[in-house]
Amino acid sequence: MRTYKSPIFAASFLLAFAAANAAEKGVPSFARADLAAADNLRTRALTDETAYRLVESLTTEVGPRPAGSSGDKAAVAWGVREMQRLGFANVRTQEVTVPHWVRGEAELSVVSPFRQSIPTLVVGGSVGTAPEGIDAEAVMVKDLDALAALPAGAVKDKIVYFSQRMERTRDGSGYGKAVLVRALGPANAAALGAQAIVLRSISTSDNRLPHTGATRYAADKPRIAGFAISNPDADALERQFASGKPVRLHLRSTSRELPPEKSANVIGEIPGSDRADEIVIICGHLDSWDPGVGAIDDGAGVAIAMGVGNLFKQLDLKPRRTIRIVLFANEEFGGSGSAAYLAANDATVDKHAVGFEADLGAGPVWRLASRVNDAQLPVVDAIFRALAPLKLQRGANNAGGGADLDGLAKRGMPLLDPSLDATHYFDVHHTANDTMAQVDPAALRQSVAAFSVSVWLAAQYAGDWQRVTAQKPSRR
Ligand code: ZN
Ligand code: ZN
Repeated sequence: MRTYKSPIFAASFLLAFAAANAAEKGVPSFARADLAAADNLRTRALTDETAYRLVESLTTEVGPRPAGSSGDKAAVAWGVREMQRLGFANVRTQEVTVPHWVRGEAELSVVSPFRQSIPTLVVGGSVGTAPEGIDAEAVMVKDLDALAALPAGAVKDKIVYFSQRMERTRDGSGYGKAVLVRALGPANAAALGAQAIVLRSISTSDNRLPHTGATRYAADKPRIAGFAISNPDADALERQFASGKPVRLHLRSTSRELPPEKSANVIGEIPGSDRADEIVIICGHLDSWDPGVGAIDDGAGVAIAMGVGNLFKQLDLKPRRTIRIVLFANEEFGGSGSAAYLAANDATVDKHAVGFEADLGAGPVWRLASRVNDAQLPVVDAIFRALAPLKLQRGANNAGGGADLDGLAKRGMPLLDPSLDATHYFDVHHTANDTMAQVDPAALRQSVAAFSVSVWLAAQYAGDWQRVTAQKPSRR
């Protein structure tokens, strides 16, 4: 029997004391082997083509996959097949009821003062017009506030044109500021008696492709159609207003809503070991809008999430916490996939230790931001140090996260945000140009590297990921 005077005992006692002391001070300690594995993950990710091949496969074999469409169903089958091929555990689907809206055809032309035809897309969920279309005078306003400030009756029976321009930002914040016009413009204009709305696309591009994206009608207000036009066409339309003569537009759309359909979230896991009941969730969304093939929105996010899981399998890593890869149904048109996930996991929300969401394009990652309990900020610092070779910036602790994890985050789940560079994302987002041509293989590999290191260390953290108690601001 050893006595307390044994030098070995004294040394181990001192080490234990030092570790306890470090834990008390909140200094995280990742085991040397975990940091070495993080290095391996990063190195392997930077040469691994799996994520790129997954986006290629999804966009080629499935293509557009709006909620409720045949492409949506094909995407679910694709997700199950590919998760099984990659060797993920517990591959399963979770049924989700989704709306089924179809775009039909749309046309928009200026009737006077100068006759012009303008390419357009209706916003997602828009009602159609009467078969003969709508002919009416247009009233130009900048945004929702300007609409609300108009005198009573100013837009009655007219078409409201919203001129607000989206700002280009690296963190995507310009979108959040601009998108309200699309989300609420039709509902707010309808409440004032307008017949339809036209908006300058929520876009940073100077090409002529309009951008779609969801609108939200109000249950207690009439539903009117919403049409988006590109930035150059919005400029041209505004030159018509500048003539000082009344601007009359002709609009027509055959879009319509069909009965709801079944879709599914697709889920796979890398099972944890001693903390297997705790979940590190990494997600993207499987659905896309219809004009393009959803390569950057959100084929890339799907591929990043699955690419991370693939690397864990390739390197035979056994995480402490369970890594759960989720491909959500219908992010674009109401978030029914994430709502179904939240309802099904109501009892285990608190077991969701950390969340990662990839829904801002195909990279590269330029920053590590977070939304964690202050007690875990040193852990985020340690993860940031492990990412040093990727030369990221350290973001603030106010990450908003994406739409699919919003419900979990509102209930206290910490978020880590390896931020995808959104500088050029909104040139292409929700347009016919969302194709493989927009995916840079090197940027996608780098993104998988940043996510895989962060996910791995989040899963290995020796302490508890405490819940975030600060109230989460609304995303919109
Ligand atoms: Zn998206
Ligand atoms: Zn989208």
